[in-house]
This record gives sequence, C-alpha cells and structure tokens, in this order.
Amino acid sequence: MRPFAYSRPASLDDIVNADLNERGGPPTEAAHQFLAGGTTILDLMRLDVMRPDVLVDLNRLALQGHARLDVNDRGVRFGFLTPMSDAANDPRIKRDYPVIAESLDLAASPQVRNMATIAGNVLQRTRCPYFRETTWAACNKRNPGSGCTAMDGVNRLHAVLGVSDDCIATYPSDLAQALIALDAKVETKGPGGSRAMPFAELHLPPGNTPNVETVLKPGELIVAIEVPAGPHTRRSHYLKIRDRQSFAFALASAAIALDLDGDTVRDARIALGGVATVPWRAREAEESLRGKRLDEASARDAAEIAFTDAKPRQHNAFKVPLGKETLVRALLETKAMEA
Ligand code: SF4
Repeated sequence: MRPFAYSRPASLDDIVNADLNERGGPPTEAAHQFLAGGTTILDLMRLDVMRPDVLVDLNRLALQGHARLDVNDRGVRFGFLTPMSDAANDPRIKRDYPVIAESLDLAASPQVRNMATIAGNVLQRTRCPYFRETTWAACNKRNPGSGCTAMDGVNRLHAVLGVSDDCIATYPSDLAQALIALDAKVETKGPGGSRAMPFAELHLPPGNTPNVETVLKPGELIVAIEVPAGPHTRRSHYLKIRDRQSFAFALASAAIALDLDGDTVRDARIALGGVATVPWRAREAEESLRGKRLDEASARDAAEIAFTDAKPRQHNAFKVPLGKETLVRALLETKAMEA
C-alpha cells in the first residue's frame, strides 16, 4: 500500500470547508478520499486502484447524530453513517419496508454489515475484476481512455442494461435497488452548500466517462437518505439470485413494491440489480402492470419489457433469461405477501 496521510475531522463543517480536490476530476480520483466503514476504500487502496494522498476519516461524526436511523409516519431517514446491520435488524423497517431489510440482509456478511454504512454501500465501486486488478492496463473506469478489457474478456458477471461502448461494469449494491424502487431522496453537503435530489439521479450511466460514477462534486458528502412512506412499502420484497447463497454479489435481483386492489395493480415499483451499470428502475415494465391483474402472464409480459434493451456479451447472455425469471418470481412472491 502507498503511504498516505490520515485526518479525522471533528465536524461536518470542517470537512466541507476544506479544499478536498487538489487534483481536479471526479471525486473517485480526488487526492482526498472519505473513510466510513472502510469496506470498499481500504480494499481498493491495498489493490492500488484508489490512491488517495489523504484519507479523511468520517467516524467522529457518528457521535453527532450522523449514524442515527429515524422511522416515523412520514418514512425512514438514514444518517449517512448508519451501519447496514442497524437498518437490516430494525423491527420497524422489517415490518414496514421489508425490501430494505431484505436487500441489506442478503448483502455481504454479518461482519461487513456491522462495519459498512448506508452511504458507503450505495457508493461502493464495481467488482469488475479488470477494474480491481491493475496489471490489466485497459480499464476506462480506472484509467480513462485506456479501453475496456471486459468487452472481449471474461464478462460473465457484467451488465446487460445501461451499458456503453466504453464500460459494461455491473453496479454492485443491493440496497440501492430497494432505495430507487421506493423513490428515496438523497441529501448532500459540500463546498457549494447543501442540496437534495432523487436517489434515481445520484448515479450516472457509464457513457464515455465511466470514471465519473455519480453527480457528487469533489468534497461533497451524502449526509442522509430518506425513504417516503407510501401504500406500497409494506408489500415490498427483494429477491437475489447468486452463485452461492452467502457472501456473493447478485447475478440478477429484483426489488419490488406493490400497491394492490385485490389482484389488480394500483401501483408497481420495480428495480433490477446484478444486470445493470447503475441502480435500475424498470419504469416501462411498471407501467405495463398498472390497472392489470397481476398473474404469471402479466408478470412475464412485464419481464419481457424490462429486458427489451438488453445488450448481452459473449459470457453474460444467460443474465437475460435469468433476470426475467427473477423478476417474474419476485413479482409473484410480492403479490403473495401478507401486507
Ligand atoms: Fe473497466 Fe468498465 Fe471495462 Fe470493467 S467493464 S474493464 S470497469 S471499463
């Protein structure tokens, strides 16, 4: 690991007032990097993929309310340092927002969930092996303009939706699929002040700048994520399909939230994981279900629509039928829930 300096600021203001972008470029390449749970950044520093000059440890802020989880009639508010395990184990979230609890419970391991934070989870970086191994020279995400080894390499785990000619890396978080399905909002604070945005606007598809992964500016932090309450949150569910049943990323997943009138769909929320380059809301598939009876036939129609624009490569074509089956099963399991 390269030498680096370490700072442990006492307040959010100390962080956002500091100049954290001497190098220019996107936050993932800034000279300063933030440390919360450390379950992504420390791995990537050991691998020499991320090379900060200064690691800015945010953990003193946990005692200032930033690790707090609030659940009330209006919804859920996660302070950015809330540990994944606190949210996964909260009885109110399990009952009223099961898709959130399930997405967290199926991620990583208990030890990782105790360390990793909500904000860090949604900002985690891809598991593309060519990104994480620096002996592969061609990786546009790690080294802009160098090419993409995955295009003609081993691309079994790569994305089929939202891909570009420059990057097909899969976005890895499970929680993000629950958040985008439930119309979460993100609050940020940075040198330019505070702002709020729909969670759906946080991540950027790879396009021709896959190294720019979010709309966050250098030095800008997620300070909270809010999920509004609604008639769909109790009947919500996360289904994850993976190579093994523990400590594995999704090959395909679906986050579903339904508001039903008997068997008829008043509102459907669908997000797909393991198959896309960013958190992926399948809005046209949702629209196809509104006002219809939810059964296997309508679920299959929705799944066909969700994967209409899929662009598989040599080794990941199986993700198209797998993703469709995952969505059909998730819809029918969500319908069958007691809510
Ligand atoms: Fe790099 Fe993206 Fe290609 Fe992977 S898929 S090698 S992350 S450019």
